[in-house]
Amino acid sequence: MNHDSHVETRAVSHGEKPSPEEGRGDVVSPIHLASTFALPALDTGLSLEDVDPDRGEFLYSRLSNPTRHAVEQRLATLEGGTHGFAFSSGTAAIVTAMLATVEPGDHVVAFDDLYAGTRRMLEELFVKRLNVDVSFVDATDTETVAAAMREDTALVWMETPTNPLMKLCDVGAIASLAHERGALLGVDNTFMSPLCQRPLALGADLVAHSTTKYLNGHSDSVGGALVTDCDDLAESLGFLQQIALGNMLAPFDSYLLLRGTKTLPVRMRQHEANAQHIAEFLEAHDGVSRVLYPGLESHPQHELACEQMTGFGGVLSFELDGDMDDVVEFMGHLEEFTLAVSLGGVESLIECPAAMTHEPLPKEEREAVGISDTLIRVSVGIEHVDDLVADLDRAFAAVASLRESPSP
Ligand SMILES: *Cc1c(COP(=O)(O)O)cnc(C)c1O
Repeated sequence: MNHDSHVETRAVSHGEKPSPEEGRGDVVSPIHLASTFALPALDTGLSLEDVDPDRGEFLYSRLSNPTRHAVEQRLATLEGGTHGFAFSSGTAAIVTAMLATVEPGDHVVAFDDLYAGTRRMLEELFVKRLNVDVSFVDATDTETVAAAMREDTALVWMETPTNPLMKLCDVGAIASLAHERGALLGVDNTFMSPLCQRPLALGADLVAHSTTKYLNGHSDSVGGALVTDCDDLAESLGFLQQIALGNMLAPFDSYLLLRGTKTLPVRMRQHEANAQHIAEFLEAHDGVSRVLYPGLESHPQHELACEQMTGFGGVLSFELDGDMDDVVEFMGHLEEFTLAVSLGGVESLIECPAAMTHEPLPKEEREAVGISDTLIRVSVGIEHVDDLVADLDRAFAAVASLRESPSP
């Protein structure tokens, strides 16, 4: 396998090159549903470690499976790492990453604007049940992260940009800080995909994904991934995935993910071009009070975005100038955008965090972090951008006419 080839090339074929000499001439990886594999002979000297999926050897599908193995290799190469692991969800990947890196008594520093599920996992499972202490900090300022680091800090967990406020943190600076203090840095790279940001190259030790989003890209599979270039960490992750938790990705979903990754570079380019166009349209619109997208010069961390990201992704947020009733009206008039949580699929999705993804947070807490009732998050799809803009325009016009002629 040529690791020097371009990402577009590796996305198409890495991990599933046909090998007719082994009798496997399939151009695409078949879905290997077998739970167990016949051995050529009874070998009393055989240990688990001798079974090498890289040589086409498999024993039992929880340990390794040809379809999953193919996608794990693909994911590793896309993130520029050496070890890839595919899980049954992004959540399964993240809990495995944390179990591999912290023990009772350890301390974790995490971004205070994390994915809501990850934040709850840390609070309800790690803090309350596993005696791990967690400091949630505003990581937009690396000094704040530095001040939270302690002697017993084992893990720093970051997302950049965050959801839905699109706040960035400096991955390279935080990686140096973590390593100086003997801690590991894990980055959830779901929002950017490896096409727009490669945390391992910036110094992180571990990258996590909800492959449900961009990597699979078609809103038809739930999955997760971890990639690292650290052999020791990979061993712990493999133990947890295959022996202790058994939370691996199933063959059918591995196939879907493998298929999805082939078009990732093409999809991301279109997501990004559409998102940039829509962000600029929104920024110029009277009905909008602010737009949050790292590709806009008005983004407070646009410079950092240009430095550490290789693209700005397809998610943006904006604040409608009005109240919750206006948001309801606005959403009600959209035809191209589907009202739904999740992101990263080819179709455009729209949601209102205060009423949907972030509704479980108390209103005061939401407002303290900057999530107002009229904040709207958009996952921009790959449709023709003119149709998307026309749709938004129609919905803005509906809100404006409602204001001019309020119901009696
Ligand atoms: C969706 C998401 C997750 C959780 O992934 P699931 O596949 O839903 O379990 C974690 N982190 C981020 C940033 C996400 O967007």
